[in-house]
Amino acid sequence: MIKYKTPQEIEIMREAAQIVSRTLGLVAKHMKPGVTPKFLDQLAEDYIRSQNAIPGFLGLYGCPSTLLISVNEQVVHGLPTDRPFQDGDIVSVDCGSVYKGYYGDHAYTFEVGDVKPEVKKLLEVTKECLYLGIEQATAGNRIEDIGWAIQQHAEKHGYGVVRDLVGHGLGKELHEEPQVPNYGRRGRGKKIQNGLTIAIEPMINMGTEKVMTLDDKWTIVTADGKPSAHFEHDIAVVDGEPVILSTFDFIYEALGK
Ligand code: MG
Ligand code: MG
Repeated sequence: MIKYKTPQEIEIMREAAQIVSRTLGLVAKHMKPGVTPKFLDQLAEDYIRSQNAIPGFLGLYGCPSTLLISVNEQVVHGLPTDRPFQDGDIVSVDCGSVYKGYYGDHAYTFEVGDVKPEVKKLLEVTKECLYLGIEQATAGNRIEDIGWAIQQHAEKHGYGVVRDLVGHGLGKELHEEPQVPNYGRRGRGKKIQNGLTIAIEPMINMGTEKVMTLDDKWTIVTADGKPSAHFEHDIAVVDGEPVILSTFDFIYEALGK
């Protein structure tokens, strides 16, 4: 069952999302060669707790960390390690928070140092996919319209759209109904209505859409070892239109964009 939210609930969810946004801004400041995923993880945990919130992923489904940090061919769910980032890496950082009982959950893929032009292109197109998906989240449209828009744009560039992992409803639970796939057919799925709160999160691969899970049972990697990108926002449907509760502004500010 989809749990539609009241305006009051949506305001709390905006706070939860913004705590994640500020955390990602802090991560952006430190995203350099030589920095380790574990360092960022501790930084994020301390910051989230300082905001009267708790890390949203830590302990959930047995997750051992505050951030999920996925490097290069890692798609999502990478566990923070002591291996320093290297020049040319791309690093997807996914972060959750719980504030007053509601979840925020969003993600950004960062560039470390000098990234190859074809990899930069993957990041650019994946971010475009995110916003094209968001545009479709209007009252009267259907859930698969979101994935349809994402898939069209990604495949136009020859990229693979991950099928095994999807976006989702968001609220008092990290994963609520409905599932929000990054692929789909126009006009299919549940009708979108006011009060819907979802995380839209395209996971786009430079090569094959196929993915595998590593032996740590967490890290998802591309089957062909080619890079993958991931961008995620939290959305509420208000007055028929999608409202983005999270923001990349703190990241852009940190990166001087
Ligand atoms: Mg996420
Ligand atoms: Mg999510």
